[in-house]
Amino acid sequence: MREKRSLLWFKNELRLQDNEILFRAAAKASFVLPVYIIDPAQFQPKKFRFPKTGYYRAKFLIESLTDLKTALQGRGADLHVYIGRAEEIIPQLVRQLNLSVVYASQETGSEELYIQNAIDLQLKKLGVSLELYWQNTLYHVDDIPWPIQRLPDTFTNFRKELEQESQVRKNFPIPEIAYQQEIASHVIPTLQDLGFSPQPTDARSAIEFKGGEQKAKERMQEYFWEKDLLRTYKETRNELLGPDYSSKFSAWLSLGCISPRTIYEEVKRYEQERIKNDSTYWLIFELMWRDYFRFASKKYGSKIFQHNGLRNKTLISNNNVDLFEKWRIGETGVDFIDANMKELLYSGFMSNRGRQNVASFLTKDYKVDWTWGAAWFESQLIDYDVSSNWLNWAYIAGVGNDPREDRYFNTESQVRKYDPKGEYSRHWLAGKADVLKHAPESNIIS
Ligand code: FAD
Repeated sequence: MREKRSLLWFKNELRLQDNEILFRAAAKASFVLPVYIIDPAQFQPKKFRFPKTGYYRAKFLIESLTDLKTALQGRGADLHVYIGRAEEIIPQLVRQLNLSVVYASQETGSEELYIQNAIDLQLKKLGVSLELYWQNTLYHVDDIPWPIQRLPDTFTNFRKELEQESQVRKNFPIPEIAYQQEIASHVIPTLQDLGFSPQPTDARSAIEFKGGEQKAKERMQEYFWEKDLLRTYKETRNELLGPDYSSKFSAWLSLGCISPRTIYEEVKRYEQERIKNDSTYWLIFELMWRDYFRFASKKYGSKIFQHNGLRNKTLISNNNVDLFEKWRIGETGVDFIDANMKELLYSGFMSNRGRQNVASFLTKDYKVDWTWGAAWFESQLIDYDVSSNWLNWAYIAGVGNDPREDRYFNTESQVRKYDPKGEYSRHWLAGKADVLKHAPESNIIS
């Protein structure tokens, strides 16, 4: 007999399929209240004058919440979106509706953990339990062959042992949800409510990202089955231009509109029905990189944000705001770097090859503090993910999990290899008259 009345706290798992908290809540509770909380602090500036969450991510979030609300309503439930601090809103709802359990995903980021612990403490005082489930990695944290503190310090060692010792768990099916309308429906805020004015998508963008589980599945259908691009992924993944060279799954993965396990199952089906080759393996290989960074951030905690990084290595860098500003708005005078930074500025996306180059340029050529670059990416990237962003930056800055000392991307040779005809640079630099929309000032707030 299901007697529990529960709150289902959605964060970065904005989907119905393969969502363990939804599955557990539905199985155990007689009443489920699905909730999402938008904390305005996430849209404010922090160290710099630009917001912590910028326009593209805000837009993608609103679209993803709208899609989830519609999907839940289609199943007789709803999504209640609140604005405020989770530490205040969740205990309030628990008291008001006489709930006995809160279901949520387990966190790894230090800020998120802080909030999770604060809520746990308050719920304990109310005699309410917080049930946490690990989500959003390909391999479950309980299935990796090491305790987290002994996670290997290089990806290669991690991957080899993981592949031998561990299995990917199966997807959770979408359950029936026990829901009654006990409180008035809470509407999703608009972009204007969050302080942004809507802009048309820049026609030069690699792809029109639209948030939500439905769109994530459509992209997977297109990339795997309609365009049959998975079979050549390994050869194309380092390219720079257009929708087809890579999957573009990152934005949907970042908010959990799709789970890596759902992608994995689809790759396995593709391997059975179409072809199994290096490319099909390589997409899973990249998802293992994503897992690696997530486990590493659990291991290293707030060290991932520190200038000296995981290695506590003394890094000499400058605090030259002018150089940072030139880099940030794509005005360094180096076309390849500027084109990539314009792409980020005007579309919220950049290829992996581009990200490696601009990060190397800022930290090795300009010798500017890598954490500044990571903060700009955090604000601007549509697919921002705490672990993937900060640990990729630390890696390139030479204070992360890179076994090679002093990795450097020489821009000239990178251009010769990846943009020999200058097509990519022209694509983003041809119309130089562009206005600096979405480019709030960057001056440091002292
Ligand atoms: P695909 O090539 O199609 O790869 C498939 C998936 O594998 C991606 O969606 C992603 O989930 C994962 N993946 C691929 N490469 C990496 C990688 N190097 N690290 C972790 N996961 C990877 N990725 C993010 O998702 N969010 C970030 O905030 C982010 N910041 C980055 C910052 C820097 C400085 C660098 C060098 C890389 C960063 N990446 C980040 C990783 C990578 O660039 C993007 O995941 C990728 O470009 C997204 O495009 P895609 O989905 O088409 O990738």
